[in-house]
Amino acid sequence: MNRILKWGLAIGGGALTVESLRWAFSVTNGPSQRYEAWEKAPYREFPNKVLIVGGGFGGFTAAKKASDLTKGRDDVGVMVISRENFFTFWPMLAGAIAGGTETKNVAQPIRRGLISSGVSFRRAEMESIDHENKLVNVSGTVTGREQQIPYDHLILAMGGEPAYFGIPGVEEHCISMTGIGTAEEIRNRVIERYEQTILMRGEVPQSALTFVVIGGGATGTETAAELHSLVHDVLPPDYPNIDPDRVKIILVDSNEQILKELDPALRRAARKRLDGMQIQVINNVRAEEVTGGKVSLDDGQEIAAENVIWTAGARASLKLEDLGELPSDARKGLAVDAYCRVEGYENIWGIGDCAANINGEGEPIPPNAQAATQGGELVAKNVVAAIDGEELETFEYQALGQLVELGSQFAVNDVLGIKFSGFAASLFWRATYLYKLPIGQNRIRIAADWMLDVFFKPAATQIRDREL
Ligand SMILES: Cc1cc2nc3c(=O)[nH]c(=O)nc-3n(C[C@H](O)[C@H](O)[C@H](O)COP(=O)(O)OP(=O)(O)OC[C@H]3O[C@@H](n4cnc5c(N)ncnc54)[C@H](O)[C@@H]3O)c2cc1C
Repeated sequence: MNRILKWGLAIGGGALTVESLRWAFSVTNGPSQRYEAWEKAPYREFPNKVLIVGGGFGGFTAAKKASDLTKGRDDVGVMVISRENFFTFWPMLAGAIAGGTETKNVAQPIRRGLISSGVSFRRAEMESIDHENKLVNVSGTVTGREQQIPYDHLILAMGGEPAYFGIPGVEEHCISMTGIGTAEEIRNRVIERYEQTILMRGEVPQSALTFVVIGGGATGTETAAELHSLVHDVLPPDYPNIDPDRVKIILVDSNEQILKELDPALRRAARKRLDGMQIQVINNVRAEEVTGGKVSLDDGQEIAAENVIWTAGARASLKLEDLGELPSDARKGLAVDAYCRVEGYENIWGIGDCAANINGEGEPIPPNAQAATQGGELVAKNVVAAIDGEELETFEYQALGQLVELGSQFAVNDVLGIKFSGFAASLFWRATYLYKLPIGQNRIRIAADWMLDVFFKPAATQIRDREL
């Protein structure tokens, strides 16, 4: 307890200090706006219009970088359109399942950060592209009418979606990581089952209290560990009549070992941790079918479970199907060159999970947050270089490592080849992601969440609308 407290306060204190310094610095230097927030120089009037679709890791970074690079110039305008006015900080989403991190703090508000850097923002959804007239058709207006936004350079950064590989029942019966609400959906499901169990005086089938997570990558493994924290640490005071050991958590993975992308020693450490949590891991099997009451595996096993979470596959944005004229692969995304330019186009660019980015040697770059952020930086530089008639740079991806948190006090990390696990690794995980959060006030709020967790268990509230 003392140790957790000490480190919790250290992390929180560190975050507060960093933010105070940033704030003091911004006050003494005044606001850094290029022009008034309500667009004294409207985007449409700039001779070079850079339109970015998607305000996530890739799009947000590209917008900030493009704005930085063109700060003193009146010839380049940047606009972001995105479906939401926040970006989901995906690596922290699993942490919201047990309530240790608030969902609303995982959502990074982007509007203020963008407009104060001189980037215009519209919360709208791209529907299609009119290549001839260099216009993007968007929906999302109050009138429901489509609007058109012009571009000279178009950066596509729409991210990805879960892939279901046509497995019967997965899309209908599984909870999958489709958006910011997924963590609450999982927590609500557990609470719903607990409430049913209480109402039925414990007479529920084991399948109601069995949670199967399909996919043993980082997201699936973190999800299983968070489910364990919810069941064993958070809910017991609210449900003293339910024995947490009645709840079964099963992690199903098609590989020989979970976390296949990690070093073997880290995999073993993670596996030992899950075993200690009594999370059953089943390797070398694929789900063949999911129904409302069971998961069938391809080795003939059947798991009676009414709660299944799908984390086993990802693909590029489905929106690419509506942009059929652009070359793309359904799973990997837009075909782009090493400069992030869509093949066959001089002024359309693709980054992040919606693009099959490659480096200068033609090797594929993995779809993750680091790559999307680095791609965002590079594409901004290349678009400005293209406007100025200068040479473009190839994408030289730097893999910085991987961090996987299994509950709030244990992580397995590989950072620039240095491998470590345990409590110190979990503090490193937290400090790193706090640092990487793009919005300062969310950084403080999340640090505060974590500090408060040392003293109080997160609330087991099930936020739900009344069914009419
Ligand atoms: C649960 C989960 C956990 C993860 N954990 C990690 C991790 O720990 N480490 C790591 O490196 N990676 C992690 N990833 C992967 C990482 O989050 C992605 O690789 C990264 O988000 C890709 O960035 P992006 O900009 O391409 O897409 P995103 O960040 O998803 O942003 C895409 C944006 O485009 C918007 N958009 C989509 N379609 C349209 C449209 N038609 N019109 C307008 N806007 C649109 C979306 O609303 C969204 O804001 C995780 C992913 C998930 C799902």
